[in-house]
Amino acid sequence: MSSQTAVTSVPLLDLKAQYAGIREEVRAAVDRVMDSQYFILGPEVEGLESEVAAYCGCRFGIGVSSGTDALILALMALDVGPGDEVITAPFTFFATAGSIHRLGARPVFVDIEPDGFNIDPAKIAAAVTKKTKAVIPVHLFGQCAEMDPITEVARKHNLAVIEDAAQAIGSEYRGRRAGSFGTVGCFSFFPSKNLGGFGDGGMVTTNDERLAARMRMLRNHGAEPKYYHKLVGGNFRLDALQAAVLRIKLRHLDAWSAGRQRNAARYREMFARAGLGGRVVCPVELPGRRHIYNQFSIRSPRRDAIKAKLAERKVGHDIYYPVPLHLQECFAALGGRPGSQPESERAAAEVLALPIYPELTVEQQQYVADAVASAVP
Ligand SMILES: *Cc1c(COP(=O)(O)O)cnc(C)c1O
Repeated sequence: MSSQTAVTSVPLLDLKAQYAGIREEVRAAVDRVMDSQYFILGPEVEGLESEVAAYCGCRFGIGVSSGTDALILALMALDVGPGDEVITAPFTFFATAGSIHRLGARPVFVDIEPDGFNIDPAKIAAAVTKKTKAVIPVHLFGQCAEMDPITEVARKHNLAVIEDAAQAIGSEYRGRRAGSFGTVGCFSFFPSKNLGGFGDGGMVTTNDERLAARMRMLRNHGAEPKYYHKLVGGNFRLDALQAAVLRIKLRHLDAWSAGRQRNAARYREMFARAGLGGRVVCPVELPGRRHIYNQFSIRSPRRDAIKAKLAERKVGHDIYYPVPLHLQECFAALGGRPGSQPESERAAAEVLALPIYPELTVEQQQYVADAVASAVP
């Protein structure tokens, strides 16, 4: 008998386990902000901005209120608006295309390649029109899109590249980090991301000094100096409390991402040992990538049976994402039809995310693997 109590459930994410390891550090940092009574932007936010920019290999970082606002701010700074088209993938979180629509521009969907779940670079050129202003590749689940051919097609057609790196902080492609390839990189600090705050938060990164200044201005109602408005911006500001927490967490991020990678390798071994070969496909690590596993999404034609078994055994799981964006009700006017984005539709029907957070124990992972195996005997 093991000295540990038997596993009878596993959550999809356990932020309490993470907090237990950093509690004292975080409380000291939060205390520092409360003593300062400086709550919005200021030195903590500036500190986080330079630390995240350095971490991502970018010149500038600008703290914002969420990943969604990072996308909105990037599009605003690039003057995307009514009459413009922006190319992106339909298999992503809603905010990627929602942001385009909110600025009055039209999202144009280009299907994914099935191994990496990211936009298929070979299909982008055919979607470019005279109205295309930008392309938003998404680094889904923590693995970078194929940035070399994407950058190449964008350069050829004079398109801005906005990376949706919300799930991909620290992810690499050919030795460079997510957020450093495009015109602008957009990050989210939503609590379930690899670097998650104690609430909403986000960041844009760029190497373009002029664009950085413009985004910094737009983040705060376009004012420069205060009360002199050169542009109509918004309130996209980041709080000092979030920045203080995130600066502590950033110091642990590499260790946490390494823990996720270790757990991904362990699932592969467990599934192979269980002989799940053809029935459950583990995430594919594409060449030249550093996958940071914000999600570990398996795919299986028997997804719904596996999902039911996980629910029965109290294993946390989720489907990211069940409805591709071209088939969302709110985008009906764009004319998306079932069958028009076949790889995205197949992924939506087959994916299932399993617990992958770094604090998972071997026993917990074995419990998850056993549940998956028993669903597809
Ligand atoms: C989380 C996420 C966003 C939005 O970030 P929020 O901070 O929740 O606004 C955008 N795109 C992708 C791919 C995401 O995963």
